Amino acid sequence: MQKTKHCHECEKNAAVLTEVSIPIGNEIFKTKAYSCQKCKAIEMTPKIRKEMDEWGKSLKKDVISPQPFFTEATHHFLDQMASQFGMKKSPFIKALTSYYLNVAVNKPNFLSIQEKISKLPQTSLLNEGTRSKITMPINYMLYSKIKVFCDVWKTTPPKVIEEAVSYGLTLLSVEDENFEVLKKIVEELRQYITVLSQAA
Ligand SMILES: [Zn+2]
Repeated sequence: MQKTKHCHECEKNAAVLTEVSIPIGNEIFKTKAYSCQKCKAIEMTPKIRKEMDEWGKSLKKDVISPQPFFTEATHHFLDQMASQFGMKKSPFIKALTSYYLNVAVNKPNFLSIQEKISKLPQTSLLNEGTRSKITMPINYMLYSKIKVFCDVWKTTPPKVIEEAVSYGLTLLSVEDENFEVLKKIVEELRQYITVLSQAA
């Protein structure tokens, strides 16, 4: 008889230690874990998460390729800003996404900053017009951040990237002297991208 354990999802004593396959974007992570025979929930211990992160970091390929849509104005400004940082467009979009998910959303005043940014004329200028898509291959580390955000805010990876790009590009278009409150954030974003551009 297999030893069973309490399941934290359905509260039944039905979790057994077994081989599990966890989909991570287009890839599959396999390990041994307690999995519930009733509700299929997998017990994600810190040990398994660590193992999964190590597996993900060692992956040579990207795990998802979402296709965000950007207006012509956004595409144009992305090209312009990317070259200003000495980057290609795709790593630059990833840098903006990474800043958004790793730094911007963690700020206690994130929502008020976001509101301020969304009211700037640059935001509407960047978002007016027809949109065309771009394919963005995303690695495990950025994917795991995107996934958490999607789960919390009930959104999708392309939408998150669109949101992050709109947020970041608007900030980068801010004239320092006019927006004292945003000045520090713009400086922080510029430094963040510079560090990433040097690592790329
Ligand atoms: Zn269960």
